[in-house]
Amino acid sequence: MGKVVATRAGAKGKSAARSPSAARPSRVEAEAAVRTLIRWAGDDPRRQGLAGTPGRVARAYEEWFSGYTEDPRAYLSRTFDEVAGYDEMVVLRDITFESHCEHHLAPIIGRAHIGYLPRHRVVGISKLARLVDVYARRLQIQEKMTAEIASCLEGVLKPFGVGVVIEAVHQCMTTRGVHKTGVTMVTSQMLGVFRKREATRQEFLSAIRLRGPGES
Ligand SMILES: [Zn+2]
Repeated sequence: MGKVVATRAGAKGKSAARSPSAARPSRVEAEAAVRTLIRWAGDDPRRQGLAGTPGRVARAYEEWFSGYTEDPRAYLSRTFDEVAGYDEMVVLRDITFESHCEHHLAPIIGRAHIGYLPRHRVVGISKLARLVDVYARRLQIQEKMTAEIASCLEGVLKPFGVGVVIEAVHQCMTTRGVHKTGVTMVTSQMLGVFRKREATRQEFLSAIRLRGPGES
């Protein structure tokens, strides 16, 4: 099993810069576009088996891309300030997600691992999982999604540091192009003490059972 490791620990976190300028097409227009793609694939959208497909695809898009209508910061805003003296790292491991690559609209299936060292505020774990979904349910590249999650957590919780690692399989790579199955892409974004302090980063990586480059 090959493993492409693209560590982006040094990359600067950028938040989403989504353009709201593109007017949303109507449902009728969306379904017509699906019919066009069916014809492009070589089939006849009028045949019985495909008659309901444009409507189904439009509804599937509403679910796959529901992240555009949600504000990730709102999910985190109800934080639990009372930490009762808890000052150790919080790690949520193996948050599964499904996303779509912005280059091919192909599925990206993966897991996210999130850690942070709280300063005053902690957040419910279900909120962290929802945060991953909000960003996953948009057209993505894995590097950007990793940075967006880290940057959002840092901005809202103001912790001492944040670490986000994402492992994912890109179906644009497994089902087309180079056709390499079993290749996992790993990206990471470390902010604050996760970036500055080796021991903190290692504590996080061992909690999620990954090791830094060169470490045994
Ligand atoms: Zn792709």
